[in-house]
Amino acid sequence: MSLPPANANGAVNGVGAEDRAASGTATEGRTAAEGRAQGGSASFQDMWRELLPVGRHQDSGGYRRYAWTGADADCRAWFRAQAEARGLSYEVDRNGNQWAWLGDPLAGDAVVAGSHLDSVPDGGAFDGPLGVVSSFAALDELRRRGAEFTRPLAIGNFGDEEGARFGLACVGSRLAAGQLTVEAAHRLRDGDGITLPQAMEAAGYDPDAIGPDPERLARIGAFVELHVEQGRALDLTGDPVGIASAIWPHGRWRFDFRGEANHAGTTRLADRRDPMLTYAETVLAARREAELAGALATFGKISVEPNGVNAIPSLVRGWLDSRAADQAALDAVVSGVERAAREHAERAGIDLDVVRESFTPVVEFEHALRDELGRILAGRDGADRAVPVLGTGAGHDAGILSASVPTAMLFVRNPTGISHSPAEHAGEDDCVAGVIALADVLEGLACS
Ligand SMILES: [Zn+2]
Repeated sequence: MSLPPANANGAVNGVGAEDRAASGTATEGRTAAEGRAQGGSASFQDMWRELLPVGRHQDSGGYRRYAWTGADADCRAWFRAQAEARGLSYEVDRNGNQWAWLGDPLAGDAVVAGSHLDSVPDGGAFDGPLGVVSSFAALDELRRRGAEFTRPLAIGNFGDEEGARFGLACVGSRLAAGQLTVEAAHRLRDGDGITLPQAMEAAGYDPDAIGPDPERLARIGAFVELHVEQGRALDLTGDPVGIASAIWPHGRWRFDFRGEANHAGTTRLADRRDPMLTYAETVLAARREAELAGALATFGKISVEPNGVNAIPSLVRGWLDSRAADQAALDAVVSGVERAAREHAERAGIDLDVVRESFTPVVEFEHALRDELGRILAGRDGADRAVPVLGTGAGHDAGILSASVPTAMLFVRNPTGISHSPAEHAGEDDCVAGVIALADVLEGLACS
């Protein structure tokens, strides 16, 4: 597909964009918005290019956009600039989530699109940003069509979705939905011992303001999150876009294996209490249990003390991430892994603590909204068959918000299925198909 040339009018760079946007007048904002109304695909390309360098690590090529860091601030400045360039009213809620409004935010029954801009360590460009960029591009597409809005429309960027820094995913949406207490949020610490309140304060936000936001959520009639697929289901069906059915139950468990530090060169094997061995047995057990249950289990993060090449560790701390299509399968995996870990620990004289750090039960997206999306997308010109409906093992803000708000998700094909990696990818034509699908959905929901 060939796309119209990018429109330079109103384009902003990610870094320093907040300053430029803040100095602009409302008139300039409208002009930029009108200039952008050449269609969703051109504005998609513009925005994608602007955001691409922000927080990208030179060596790995992956993204390090962690909550409340400089790269995060640059992403947030970009979001604000996009909102203001379109003449949308911009606000930050008490939990640091960003909102761009078309229409009256207080009117109620709003239709909201959005996702997140933060990343996992060395994450890809698409997980999160694709949803935010596509939301702005879909609005541009609707303006190009001359759509008349009968409901308020907003675009959201939810803070700290990946949990890369503080170890808990979806902090912004969890706080808003009352699924994370203020006390628990205040106890979150990053790897350097910096607490969430300290990090928020350093980034210019008020940590004392955080907490549930039920009035705000009550004003939302529908939330639609577009996201790159984190699997290959759409590649296998040959569809550029799909609709989410459910998010698998998933959680994170911390395993602390404690042994005895000693000299790697002088301690006989028979005399060692080496927690690394028990950890290794546990990793293998996780793989076996996941295979047995048809589920997923991963140890992807580990910390070792004293972490010396020539020292037997005193502590190995490993984090288990596990997900399954249903609760029974997930329970079977986690209890199987814990049982195996305890047996090996017992034999090797290792002390073991297992702590569940986070858990999200299965999320079934609201059937009425999901079916409505299916009807809208199947009823389009040239649509020759129904859009596939698929489950996912990945957590999302949409999953958290679904407890408070009618929520749906669109997935855009990921040809390799790779995600949370610099190799994560979606084709340009598929991204544009996602923009158009999102525009069609928003038009169906929010326009007369
Ligand atoms: Zn994501």
